[in-house]
Amino acid sequence: MTTDTQQPAVAVIGGGISGLTTAFLLRKKGLEVTVFEKKGYPGGVIKSIRNQGWLVEWGPNTIMAKSEQLWELIKELDLTEHVVETGKEAAKRYIVKNGRPEPLPTSVGGFLRTPLLSLKGKLRIFREPFIPKSRQPESIADFFERRLGREVRDYAVNPFVAGIYAGDPRQLSIRHTLSRVYELEQQFGSIFKGAVKSSRRSKSNSSVRRPGLISFKRGLQELPNQLVKQLDSSIRFGSAATAVTRKDRTWAVTVNDEETHAFDSIIFTAPLHQLDALTFNVEKPGLIDHLESLRYAPIATVSLGFKREQVSHPLDGFGMLVPDAEPFNILGCLFSSSLFRNRAPEEHVLLTCFIGGERHPGHVALPNPKIKEMVTDDLGQLLGCTGQPQFESLHRWNRAIPQYGLDHQSYLDAMDELEECNRGLYLTGNFRYEVSVPGCISGAYETADRAASFLQSNT
Ligand SMILES: Cc1cc2nc3c(=O)[nH]c(=O)nc-3n(C[C@H](O)[C@H](O)[C@H](O)COP(=O)(O)OP(=O)(O)OC[C@H]3O[C@@H](n4cnc5c(N)ncnc54)[C@H](O)[C@@H]3O)c2cc1C
Repeated sequence: MTTDTQQPAVAVIGGGISGLTTAFLLRKKGLEVTVFEKKGYPGGVIKSIRNQGWLVEWGPNTIMAKSEQLWELIKELDLTEHVVETGKEAAKRYIVKNGRPEPLPTSVGGFLRTPLLSLKGKLRIFREPFIPKSRQPESIADFFERRLGREVRDYAVNPFVAGIYAGDPRQLSIRHTLSRVYELEQQFGSIFKGAVKSSRRSKSNSSVRRPGLISFKRGLQELPNQLVKQLDSSIRFGSAATAVTRKDRTWAVTVNDEETHAFDSIIFTAPLHQLDALTFNVEKPGLIDHLESLRYAPIATVSLGFKREQVSHPLDGFGMLVPDAEPFNILGCLFSSSLFRNRAPEEHVLLTCFIGGERHPGHVALPNPKIKEMVTDDLGQLLGCTGQPQFESLHRWNRAIPQYGLDHQSYLDAMDELEECNRGLYLTGNFRYEVSVPGCISGAYETADRAASFLQSNT
């Protein structure tokens, strides 16, 4: 805690990308920071595993590298030379229809020929610019059915939402989950008109070419690892915050139910379901009870390695997504060794599949051999994989991805109110701004600015 000569002291709870980035930015602003991380390693759900020539991601595999803040962070961490970009093939994505992976069209000719939509489904899309905008809260499924028709809802939106958010499009809020698409409708009255106008604007505003999807030579884990190097002794592993207490204008954090430390500000970045295991002595504790109830979808990541000749599909793309309407267990599969070079030994391929999500939450709890059987059966039918995999890795995330449901505004309001009534307390993480890694990083920038200006005005 601050004395007359010291800088204000901040505790960051959680050492995932949100917590580490916030801590790094606060340190740069001259504040004294301590990060408490429950586990023995950094990065939260970002976890890259290297094993005998295989490089597997248990959590995120790629990040969309469009944001200035992400590049600023990469540069400051001296990681620019470590960035790897997906090849051109990554633009090709498959969606399963009638038991076959079909390429998602990227040209007018491809759109006219694709079997993913019937002629009626294709014609329905042309009505989009003339559909009036809605003023009601809407689910992702209802929004796309209204604007683009049922076939797009079932064969484009449904697999995309399961693949990215592990979510059910009927339960997720369009406004909160896909806020940019929602804004296009609100601002321009149409997704198509809005997309054309905003792409013209961004082309004329930007002079720098940015890659699309990236990772790092040793996997995404390089990002949190490098943040930890910078933070050095400010991070304490194996330290679960178990109580947070507000005393007048200061804060006390109890760690592992044992030691208590005093701070001027607290930044909470752990998943909201972890609030259940924490005693929060704050104003309006009822808000904490509400936040704790935010739903997280379960997901298991199953990575399988094969000899190249065991797989008949060319694997010439990013991966494939599976709509709910198709009779398979996997939600999708990334062609990991096609995305980046060093993911599999020579003459081998690596496939990363996801199961569970809101579509099949029970699958995540199945025994390992059953999960492997389900995944290899699906890969056999869809990609022509034969024989036993040469390499396998399975990781379960029981509460993986926060679901921004139709009531999500109530969670955002609760976070605002909690911060308002408890000066010096901040919440940031994938539950608040965006689920994606760049979204978490942008949230960290915003939170670090808010916390620093509060602390600097308070001293
Ligand atoms: C399987 C999967 C695939 C994904 N794929 C992508 C992708 O391809 N691209 C993309 O951009 N995003 C992807 N995401 C989303 C993105 O990775 C996450 O939303 C983001 O990394 C979350 O970061 P965070 O720091 O907010 O939370 P977390 O990573 O959950 O970090 C929270 C940290 O808090 C710690 N903690 C918990 N309780 C306590 C406590 N009491 N005291 C101290 N510490 C505590 C945890 O141990 C953890 O380290 C994926 C997510 C998953 C799960």
